[in-house]
Amino acid sequence: MAIAHNLGFPRIGMRRELKSALESFWRGDIDGGQLRQAAAVLRKHHWSAQQESGLNVVPVGDFALYDHMLDMSVLLGAVPERFGFDDREIGLDAYFALARGNPAQPAMEMTKWFDTNYHYLVPEFTSRSVFRPAPSRLCQELAEAKDLGIRSKVVLVGPITHLYLGKEKEPGFERLSLLPRLLPVYRDILANLAALGVEWVQIDEPALVTDLPNAWWAALDDAYAALSGAAVKLLLTTYFGSVSDHAAQLKALPVAGLHIDLCRAPDQLDAFLPNYPGDKVLSLGVIDGRNIWRADLGHAFSILERVHGVLRERLWVAPSCSLLHCPVDLGQETKLDPDLRSWLAFAVQKLGEVATLARGLNEGRQAIQEELRASAESRHGRSTSGRIHNPGIRQRVARLTPADSERQSAFAVRQKRQHGRFNLPLFPTTTIGSFPQTPGIRRMRAAFRRGELGYLRYLEAMRAEIRLAVEKQEALGLDVLVHGEAERNDMVEYFGEQLEGVTFTEYGWVQSYGSRCVKPPIIFGDVCRREPMTVDWIKYAQSLTAKPMKGMLTGPVTILQWSFVRDDRPRPETALQIALAIREEVADLEKAGIGMIQIDEPAFREGLPLKKSQWDEYLQWAVRAFRVASAGVVDDVQIHTHMCYSEFNDILPAIAALDADVITIETSRSDMELLEGFGRFEYPNEIGPGVYDIHSPRVPDTAEMLRLLEKAAEVIAPARLWVNPDCGLKTRRWPETEAALRHMVEAARTLRERHA
Ligand code: GLN
Ligand code: ZN
Repeated sequence: MAIAHNLGFPRIGMRRELKSALESFWRGDIDGGQLRQAAAVLRKHHWSAQQESGLNVVPVGDFALYDHMLDMSVLLGAVPERFGFDDREIGLDAYFALARGNPAQPAMEMTKWFDTNYHYLVPEFTSRSVFRPAPSRLCQELAEAKDLGIRSKVVLVGPITHLYLGKEKEPGFERLSLLPRLLPVYRDILANLAALGVEWVQIDEPALVTDLPNAWWAALDDAYAALSGAAVKLLLTTYFGSVSDHAAQLKALPVAGLHIDLCRAPDQLDAFLPNYPGDKVLSLGVIDGRNIWRADLGHAFSILERVHGVLRERLWVAPSCSLLHCPVDLGQETKLDPDLRSWLAFAVQKLGEVATLARGLNEGRQAIQEELRASAESRHGRSTSGRIHNPGIRQRVARLTPADSERQSAFAVRQKRQHGRFNLPLFPTTTIGSFPQTPGIRRMRAAFRRGELGYLRYLEAMRAEIRLAVEKQEALGLDVLVHGEAERNDMVEYFGEQLEGVTFTEYGWVQSYGSRCVKPPIIFGDVCRREPMTVDWIKYAQSLTAKPMKGMLTGPVTILQWSFVRDDRPRPETALQIALAIREEVADLEKAGIGMIQIDEPAFREGLPLKKSQWDEYLQWAVRAFRVASAGVVDDVQIHTHMCYSEFNDILPAIAALDADVITIETSRSDMELLEGFGRFEYPNEIGPGVYDIHSPRVPDTAEMLRLLEKAAEVIAPARLWVNPDCGLKTRRWPETEAALRHMVEAARTLRERHA
């Protein structure tokens, strides 16, 4: 029998129950027992939902309170030494200290999980790293699953990926050398699982789809040879790209099965299927775990049928990757336009598709005739819908000329004009855009949304927030102000809601990190702006102060990257459509007298293909989209951009090619390491390296920020240096925000004296 299974289920809950529980716990409203109880209830719901979808095998161990990579570090007893924890006894307080920092230690570094908008906590390795199995969490979850009577498959991050995604915290040390120390711990954990009656372990090795160096590929053989004695069956799982170049090696590994992603890399089947080893299962990811479109079941089924003819019961059917990156259940979206809704599938619906396909294999095509017909009908309805095609917009994109991507003058000329216009001190201080989103603000927005608060009262409430933010910034002595983004639920959703061709859901939440979720807009058709989206707010904010007020926009690449994007048109075309919409907004801000405009591109890097050979093509259209959005202004309008939580050093030429007058970037978590690259590359424009981490309530003192700034001033000329936090402050509360900004302004002043 062909098996229907899943690689991972969203953990946040249909109604973000995990978020509520976590945040209640952090506030002290519930205790650890209650948090664990809430998590157990969620797991139970998720397993039941998966089983009801018709899956034969359901993942266990894919749940995490904060992050699955952190859980893996804990499971391996490999928490960073600097915290001084006994790594067998990681209780909740220790666990969250690792994730969020504590008064003594900053949190573990966080970075994006491959090319997704999910963030994981980066394992830290030194030559002294030791590993000790700490399987109690996993055993607990298995016991829960057993009580439910589900057929489970345990999910682990594999040793190669765990090491590869980690970071050396000691110069000259090579983390791959830890593999021999790591493998016995994996073996131990697998033995533990076998003793508990576990049959299958899905061992995730997504690192294999990247440009993994040869030494790591060689290590893969050693690793799986060492694990081959375990009394469990290993399903070596890859996703987010192709591993076809290494098909022979993978097929020869001593594992019980392989999973490959046929949505991102459909062609790789041809590298795997011929002479597929008779002792192995092949799991095919045919349902896209990274998007929300309903599948082309007919197409998927014809691929599976062909493979089924060869592999029979050794064929497993799955989503392409974990469904962590999908919203939970379309069933909740009762307000979506019915046409649009009929084109979509969320996690639960996707599992239904997986189960349908497996049933078709097991019972014959006629058993799923109705589902195949409905899928074809939905696709036809979508492709012929008048709502997705707008010839006018396509024409405008086609008519863009190179001049539309060029500022009037070169940076040096613009810089002089801008300095003349703004006359800022050395090391100007600013923030990244958002200020604390207090419960009051959220209540107001929610009430407005539900129609309980009239527009004028909402307007006044938001203006009061802007006034408050401006007052506080003036009192703190910041040089360049922001309006605080109180009216924005999310930096992408806010724009998505106002653009034509984009729709949004009520409950389509996807975890970004920890308790933080985003609700990605769905770009279903050609995109354009209906009317100004931000101008009134920014104009009002500017009217309150003589200091420059930055207009805040989200860039085209980030809007694209953090949305679910239509799969029926090329991404670069959609990017340029969004760029044109932002360009119009920039022009309106300029007309309103706004002199600084920040176009955030935090997702710029995560759009990079996982394989370097495909980078150039992406960077070309992504840079062009940003330039089209930003280049339409006169010289003395200062364009800012902002990026965070990724490695930038390898794309510095592209970042420079954006030609933003100022870039603010997150750097404090890596102790300014990031900035050295900017120095070496001689990044030409102005830079604001973040001087403190905004993910943690910890308030760093002035000396700490000053030290970071001095470090920055060693590599960047002081005349080009700005002073700001790592990122927006919406997740913080006012007391810690004000305290930290006070220290930041003090640090800038001290630095000015030193460099005067
Ligand atoms: N302007 C946004 C904010 O401050 C930027 C957020 C981000 O980079 N993710 O919230
Ligand atoms: Zn940011």
